[in-house]
Amino acid sequence: MIKYQVNTEQFKKHYFDICLTISKPNSNGIRLSLPTWIAGSYLIRDFAKHIVSIKATENNKPLNITQLDKNHWQIEPCRNEVNIYYQVYAFDCSVRSAFLDENRGFFNGSALLLSVDGEHNNTHQIEVKPQEGWQIYTTLTKIKKNLFEAETYEELIDCPVEMSKANCLDFKVNNIPHSLVLSGKHTIDDKRIIKDLIKICKHHHSFFGDSPFKKYLFLLLVTHNNYGGLEHSNSTSLICARDDLPQKHIKNITPEYTRLLGLLSHEYFHAWWVKKIKPKVFHNPNFNKEVYTEQLWIFEGWTSYYDELTLLRTKLLSLEEYLKLFGETITRVQQTLGRHNQSLVNSSFETWTKFYQQNENSINSGVSYYSKGALLAFVLDIQIREKTNDKLSLDDVLHHLWENYQDGLEDNTAQKVISELTNNNFDNFFKKYLYGTEDLPLKESFAYLGLDLTFVKPKTQKNTLGIFSKEEQGFIKITSVLHNSPAELSGLSVNDLIIAIDDIKVDFSQLEKTLNRYESGTKIVITVFRDNELRTFRAKLTTASKNICKISYLENISEKQKEHLNNWV
Ligand SMILES: [Zn+2]
Repeated sequence: MIKYQVNTEQFKKHYFDICLTISKPNSNGIRLSLPTWIAGSYLIRDFAKHIVSIKATENNKPLNITQLDKNHWQIEPCRNEVNIYYQVYAFDCSVRSAFLDENRGFFNGSALLLSVDGEHNNTHQIEVKPQEGWQIYTTLTKIKKNLFEAETYEELIDCPVEMSKANCLDFKVNNIPHSLVLSGKHTIDDKRIIKDLIKICKHHHSFFGDSPFKKYLFLLLVTHNNYGGLEHSNSTSLICARDDLPQKHIKNITPEYTRLLGLLSHEYFHAWWVKKIKPKVFHNPNFNKEVYTEQLWIFEGWTSYYDELTLLRTKLLSLEEYLKLFGETITRVQQTLGRHNQSLVNSSFETWTKFYQQNENSINSGVSYYSKGALLAFVLDIQIREKTNDKLSLDDVLHHLWENYQDGLEDNTAQKVISELTNNNFDNFFKKYLYGTEDLPLKESFAYLGLDLTFVKPKTQKNTLGIFSKEEQGFIKITSVLHNSPAELSGLSVNDLIIAIDDIKVDFSQLEKTLNRYESGTKIVITVFRDNELRTFRAKLTTASKNICKISYLENISEKQKEHLNNWV
């Protein structure tokens, strides 16, 4: 038996004090390790860097403990019960690691709980010692007050633990107990969020047919302005902003609340789609190094398509509201020049060093498998409908994969299944849009539904330099330069601080207005500080490009198109 005691006494230092007890140690010695990454977030985070001290004892006598590398330790051979005492610094207020202060403690096992070689498939117990007044929220099996159990190490690190004076809202979906636990200062229309959340949960259950869990926990940390989520098998950790929560006096659905419902929908969908059914390489993954897959366009992209489509199908959003939201995703992809350079499979495969480590050039070099993956899912959905006279859709592909591939997907499984199910050859489709970088046939896909897609210029922007910028110390700091833009052609660079245009001082709030004053094609002189040196550049302004997506009804929509639209929603 492996047992952990997690003590929160040193919350002022943000230290968790942990005692790991191994009752029957391997007589050849004990090897310990901590994961370098957490499932669902594809970045080497080296959680072990937060271990502050570690020692081991047998009958209160010290044992030799040797650090083998950044995340492995070896303890000398011994016969009796061994205790390993260690401290972990926990001050990462995100969903991926661990946090401890006077108000709350939170941890993922990956960041805190050392694994013992050879014991992975045995029972792991954890006793948590919270501060006074804190409740403990986790989906680990409760043995008694403050004592929990997991059947394996993998289960242990898949159940985050929240300790705080939180607001716990319980509800049932198809008789399965669910809780939404909100920590952090907030006000909320709790009846409204539960009513809306139940609609989303019910949708996902009826979509897949059976439930991968017997209980479910939403852990939602309410902050000033953070946002994000991480999926687990029977829970999810989320962060939102106070403004994202519904309030009793605001009746309509705000864009912020819509975004939160989309996030809840997304992470809940993952309980089926990436936690239960997943790439083969994600079964018992090696947590010591990167695990590569080409399939995140399926597991994140399709999830992103269905998270918002669910809001339409459950009537939480009207068709107009949904299309506006979907249009924003299309706009984001359209503004990413990197879509011409990086394919979706490469975006997935390289996520460890590209998507999760974006830099100022990412907009030119890469594309998101979330947003472009969602667009590909839509186009694929429409193509399947078109080729099968609306007898089949992408829904059927997910159902088929869910029922037949729970032992894992190879990188080409979904592509093969789509061709087989529809009795159609999709090789060319995948060659162009998945392995290649051709722009997706979005306009044609919307036309099938009687809808029209057009790209228009930004409302307030007449001319462009082709930069992204932010305000810094009163200057306009260039944060990205688009390829082949007036800025790039003139020699302007990332990190330049723009101070004047045609010898007149310009600040961040006036930049767009100032550029709009000129006729398109005018050459302007831009003065910047580059590394504290004053420099000037001549740029020829161009008209702002049409990259804002608008979706509307086609004129003279046919009966067939109406039928397609009805079938889709
Ligand atoms: Zn996701």
